[in-house]
Amino acid sequence: MAFIRSFLKSGALTLLAAYGWLRIRFSNQPTLLILTYHRILPSDAPERAAEQPGMLTTPEALEEHIRFARKLGAELIHLNEWLERNEKGEKLPHLSVAFTFDDGWRDNYQYAYPKLKAQNAPATIFLVTRMIGTDKTFWPEQVLSLVTTKAIPDNAPAFEWLRPYLPTKSDPGGNHRLSLLEADEVVAQLKSLEDATIIDSLEKVYESHPELAPTPTARSILNSSELTEMSQDGLVMFGAHTRHHFRLNRLKDEKTLKEEIVDCLDDLRRLGKSAIPVFCYPNGNITGKGQNLVSSTYKAACTTKTGWNHTGCNPYDLRRFNLHDGNSHSKRALLATIGRGLL
Ligand SMILES: [Zn+2]
Repeated sequence: MAFIRSFLKSGALTLLAAYGWLRIRFSNQPTLLILTYHRILPSDAPERAAEQPGMLTTPEALEEHIRFARKLGAELIHLNEWLERNEKGEKLPHLSVAFTFDDGWRDNYQYAYPKLKAQNAPATIFLVTRMIGTDKTFWPEQVLSLVTTKAIPDNAPAFEWLRPYLPTKSDPGGNHRLSLLEADEVVAQLKSLEDATIIDSLEKVYESHPELAPTPTARSILNSSELTEMSQDGLVMFGAHTRHHFRLNRLKDEKTLKEEIVDCLDDLRRLGKSAIPVFCYPNGNITGKGQNLVSSTYKAACTTKTGWNHTGCNPYDLRRFNLHDGNSHSKRALLATIGRGLL
């Protein structure tokens, strides 16, 4: 039975890959494929132990994607350049591929940049501007680290907010450290709360249980000298991904909404000439008011919707393919992910 299941799964993957290849090969108008990555980490990197699997790609897979995009006949292009040429009505390559990285992880400098540089592949990193150069990390990584490495103490009031999102215990009184998959599910469920609420609640946990506070580890977010180095040869440009990575549909306060969208571009411009007025919605979420601010501040915006983009597309609704080890570890898997996204 397991054999039949795996045979069918493999067949479906091959069909999807063939479909993806045919769509790319026979697209009848200039097309832009935007590929999205988050963290680029070697398969033995310790950071992987407390990270969502959907965030992780190996440097070798990225290298292979760059090579494969060229083999498919794509021109690797800066996202900003494609948008500008599209806006001016200039001729665009039949197939363009733009590499994008969300959140501004330090590993983008450590592991992605050498691969981009070696193959002269341009890229855009969407930065969370108030995180740059800090030793902070995002709340999902804090929660993952907390619940996978430590047992949550019973009856401790500081954890009341978290308890409804934890899986039901099968072993009362035992060690309740969660597996990475269980922890990933907790993070998904916690997204029903506001980001600021989760961040405040985590702070309270650390105040009452200092032993659970994150221990100083290697910085996980890019700093300004890394940004400068990556932008020196024009290979990497920087777009906006808000100031604090707050999901914009959950902000009730208009002042904060403006700060996260409009003022984030001021932060970005202070970085220098590699800043581009392109926004990326955290978690893909936005409201009408937020959308208006984005449209009046930026030239374009990337969504989390899957698909490709053609000339004349809505620049504030750019589609992308979110890639990670699970869906792009081989050429067939990558093509199948593209094929599935175009169904
Ligand atoms: Zn993000």
